[in-house]
Amino acid sequence: MSLNVLFVVSEVEGFAKTGGLADVGYALPKALAEIGHNVVVVMPRYYVIDKNTLEHIPISSDVLLGESTLRFGAFKSKLLDSDVDIYFVDYEAFFGRKGLYDDGFVAYHDNAERFIFFSKAALELSKSIGFKPDIVHLNDWQTAAAGVVLRHDDYFRDSAVVLTIHNLQHQGFFDKQKFGLLNVDWSHFNPFEFEALGGLNLLKGGIALADAITTVSKKYSQEIQTPQFGFGLHEHIKAHSFKLFGILNGVDYKQWNPKTDRFIKSNYDIDSLENKQRCKEELVSIFNLSLNDNTPLIGFIGRLVKQKGIELLAASIEDVLKRLDVGFVLLGAGELWAEQFFSNIAARFRDRFGCFIGYSYELAHKIEAGCDMFLMPSLFEPCGLNQIYSLRYATLPIVRAVGGLDDTVKNYDTKTGEGWGFKFWDATPKALFDTVKWAISVFKENKKDFTAMQKRAMQLRFDWKNSAKNYVDVYSWARIYKR
Ligand code: ADP
Repeated sequence: MSLNVLFVVSEVEGFAKTGGLADVGYALPKALAEIGHNVVVVMPRYYVIDKNTLEHIPISSDVLLGESTLRFGAFKSKLLDSDVDIYFVDYEAFFGRKGLYDDGFVAYHDNAERFIFFSKAALELSKSIGFKPDIVHLNDWQTAAAGVVLRHDDYFRDSAVVLTIHNLQHQGFFDKQKFGLLNVDWSHFNPFEFEALGGLNLLKGGIALADAITTVSKKYSQEIQTPQFGFGLHEHIKAHSFKLFGILNGVDYKQWNPKTDRFIKSNYDIDSLENKQRCKEELVSIFNLSLNDNTPLIGFIGRLVKQKGIELLAASIEDVLKRLDVGFVLLGAGELWAEQFFSNIAARFRDRFGCFIGYSYELAHKIEAGCDMFLMPSLFEPCGLNQIYSLRYATLPIVRAVGGLDDTVKNYDTKTGEGWGFKFWDATPKALFDTVKWAISVFKENKKDFTAMQKRAMQLRFDWKNSAKNYVDVYSWARIYKR
C-alpha cells in the first residue's frame, strides 16, 4: 500500500545544510518515493535559497503564533535528481538571514518563534495543497512542535506521527512562556510532555506525543536511554522505548563511489585497488607532505566540535606524530580553539600533518580516497556518515565504539583476520593512541589482512533503499499503534 508521507525537516541537501540531517532530508524522501510512496517535503526558505530558482506557489496561509497571526508564502521545487516535490515556507522576518539556526556564533534569540512557526506552517501548507498525510514524519526539535499541534486539528485525524531523533544533544530548550506560541492547552506543559527543568523542551514533548520515535542507529537508540548519552532525557526516552526504533541511515553511493567519483585522481574498485595509491599521491602533494613509501595516511573530516572527539585527538596528536610513522590530514571547521590548534600542529609538523580549515566537498572526496585509514574518535555519534563512505573507499575506519560507529564497523580480529576496521572504547587519548598504533602496525606488517579487510569493506552496502523499507515498517507500526 502506498502511503502519503509529509516529511517536515529544517535542512535538505541541495538547498541548505549544516550537517548529516540534510543528507537524510534529501535521501530518505527520495528513497521512499523510489519504493512507491507519495512524499512531500517541507522546509523553510532560508535566505541562502534563491527565490528565483524556485516556483512560486499562489497560496498564502495564516499561522497563529501566540497572540499574532502571521501570513506566509510558499515556493516549490524538486529534490535533486528526483521527482519528489519539496515546498518551502517563505517568511522573511524569520528566515531571511544568513544562518539556519545561529549567526555563526550564537543561536538566534527567536528560534522558538522561528521553528514553532515553521512546524505549524508546514501543516498549514499540507492543507493548502490538499495533501492528506497518512504519516507526518518530523525530524529533531525544530519540527517536534507539529506533533502536538496536529493532535488538535481534525484534518490530521488519521495521520500517524513519526519523530526521528538525529542528535539528542539539541532539544529546543526555551523559556516557559514560549509554550504559549504553541496555542495548545497548558495541560500539555507537564513533566511528562513539554516541561523540563521548569522550561519548555520541544523535543521532549515531541517524543511524548509521537506515535513512533526513531533514531539513526540501533546502538544510539539504546545509548540515549542511559544517563551518559541521554542529555537529561534518558528516563523520558526509556518510558517511551516501547515505540522507539533504531534505523541506520543509508548513504548515497551515487555521490560516494570510488569507481565513478569525479573528484579523485584515479578511479578504482575492488579489482583495481592499486589505483588508490594515485589518489594518495595526489593528496600527499596537495598538502605538501613528505612520507616514506610504506607510511600510512590517516584522515579526519568533520565539524570541529566536542562531539567529534576533537579534544581526544588534540590531546594525542603530538604523541602520534612524534612516536609513530604516520601522515595525517584533517578537514574541518568549528570551534576556534580547535581550528587554531590544528593549524598550529600543521605548521609544526609540516611534513606529516596537513590541515584545511573550512568546508570542501571536493577535498572530502579526495581524503576519503587518498587515505589508508579514517579516524572518528567521537564521544557520541548517532549514525555518522564518513565511516560509511570510508568503507566504500577501502579506507579502514578507526573509531570509538559508539552509536552508528559501533553498528557499522566490525573490529579487526587478530586471530581470524575478520573485520573491517579498528575500534576503541575508552574516551581517553591513550586508547586513541594505542588503537592508531595498532592499525598502523597491521597496515605495515600484515598487508594480507589489511588488504582483505579493505576488500571486505568495499563490498558492504548501507543503502537508503534498505533503510527506507525499515522506515515503512515503522510507519505501519505507528498507524496500527495510533488506532
Ligand atoms: P554530523 O551530522 O554530526 O556533522 P555526519 O558524519 O553524520 O556528522 O555528517 C557530516 C557530513 O558533513 C558528512 O557528509 C561529511 O563529509 C560532511 N562534512 C563535515 N565537515 C566537512 C568539511 N569541513 N568539509 C566537507 N564536508 C564536511
